[in-house]
Amino acid sequence: MIDAPLDEKRKQQMIDALSRVVGKKSILYRYEDVMAYECDGYTIHKGLPAAVVFPSNTEEVAAIVSYLHQQQIPFIPRGAGTGLSGGATALNGEVIISLVRMNKLLHVDYDNRRAVVQPGYINLKLSNSIASKGYYYAPDPSSQATCTIGGNVGENAGGAHCLKYGVTTNHVLGLEVVLPNGQIRRFGGTLDTPGYDVLGLLTGSEGTLAIVTEITVRILKKPQEVSTVLALFDKVTDASQAASDIIACGIIPAALEMMDAMAIHGVESGNYPVGYPKDLAAVLIIEVDGIAAGLQEQIEEIMQVCKNHHVREVRKAKDAAERARWWANRKTAFGAMGTISPDYLVQDGVIPRSKLPEVLERIGQISKQYGLRIANVFHAGDGNLHPLILFDSRVEGETERAVEAGSAVLKACADAGGSITGEHGVGVEKMEDMRFIFNDIEIEAQMQLRDVFNPNSLCNPHKMFPKPARCVEMKRLSREVPAVNI
Ligand SMILES: Cc1cc2nc3c(=O)[nH]c(=O)nc-3n(C[C@H](O)[C@H](O)[C@H](O)COP(=O)(O)OP(=O)(O)OC[C@H]3O[C@@H](n4cnc5c(N)ncnc54)[C@H](O)[C@@H]3O)c2cc1C
Repeated sequence: MIDAPLDEKRKQQMIDALSRVVGKKSILYRYEDVMAYECDGYTIHKGLPAAVVFPSNTEEVAAIVSYLHQQQIPFIPRGAGTGLSGGATALNGEVIISLVRMNKLLHVDYDNRRAVVQPGYINLKLSNSIASKGYYYAPDPSSQATCTIGGNVGENAGGAHCLKYGVTTNHVLGLEVVLPNGQIRRFGGTLDTPGYDVLGLLTGSEGTLAIVTEITVRILKKPQEVSTVLALFDKVTDASQAASDIIACGIIPAALEMMDAMAIHGVESGNYPVGYPKDLAAVLIIEVDGIAAGLQEQIEEIMQVCKNHHVREVRKAKDAAERARWWANRKTAFGAMGTISPDYLVQDGVIPRSKLPEVLERIGQISKQYGLRIANVFHAGDGNLHPLILFDSRVEGETERAVEAGSAVLKACADAGGSITGEHGVGVEKMEDMRFIFNDIEIEAQMQLRDVFNPNSLCNPHKMFPKPARCVEMKRLSREVPAVNI
């Protein structure tokens, strides 16, 4: 593999060759054009790609990849670039293969409750397209108005309503992919297939195994009724204990979201303020859905749990408009941080729900230790925390401190029996933090699995895994990597 930016001559040869595949208007390579692709939503690491190429169909993806494979030029699949861990960033002058022009809804099969989309199809468009028939697509990342379903597969994206219905992997029924040597392959497609769960392996592989070119997803019938409760607390510990107890009493809400005081300050300064009291310590948004009968009992039980934990105010949304207002406020929480801080770093740790109070306390200590404000927005129901570390990159050393604070938060999550990512992936951001969870042998085992698909690490190199320990590295170097032939 060519592991350094291409020299001008080779770059020009590559541009000529790829232009013959996609046409001159479907490739960018000038500095001022590729600048827009220097990073994704994780803006701390940046790098310019050698080129950005826009295929229109699977055959073009295969032709591009075949050429790059033959030339041993590394490449990176990219959707909308909303990823928050640097997965789509070119660290070493790789070629970006953008899937945004493959953006069609190919087929909807209502009888069998499935839809087939191209990878560049925007997540929210799917639910909007099938809404009139009473259906929707469950995984709803807060970025759903922008992010692509291909990118969702890349990251195994979650969202507020994934507590009850599961994350992307639970909704992917089939994939067409282009392997890193240019071969086109299909996996899944029926309700279950014998053999290994290759769909599960590919979903969340962050573009390190193959390029997804078509996705068959499960679609769901819209619930008969939805009911949403807002609970305002004076203490974070009361709110987190209430979140834990709601699930403990046997209710699985469709969504159970929490924001702390700093996050509330941010969202109230953003575009969708709800009018929360200024002295609030925490907000819970709890949503239940399903058949109408029995939903009111669940709401009453939820309200009682909140009362048991000294809630200041708890009430049901009076209508769909109020519910939509609460959600707009919550779903724009990340962006709203821009109103109270020049920069912010989103973290993505997971912890057992019961550990919420102690981990939040630890995050408070980390905030003091690093001298940085941290706002907490999270999917409380599944223990997926999104501490937002506020910093100012113009102040010398503050970016580095924010990165270190982020790593300390992830260590606290791992120490509490959790994980370093719930939905945003490892990318370039958390490669070293993988060591909080895995030892060298476990990391090496995963890299060997990657090698089966991507033997020369041409497809999204230098992502996901930390540098192997020296002894393991020696062993890797001495091992002959097999050629792809899946
Ligand atoms: C404001 C905001 C809110 C967010 N909220 C959430 C949230 O609630 N839940 C959540 O899970 N995420 C969230 N995210 C993160 C991000 O939106 C998701 O990770 C999303 O799935 C990325 O999709 P994308 O199209 O932008 O992919 P990209 O960022 O372009 O790519 C993401 C990764 O997938 C790979 N990839 C992209 N396309 C393909 C393909 N066709 N084949 C193979 N690999 C591919 C890339 O190489 C990269 O590693 C949020 C981001 C923002 C900015």
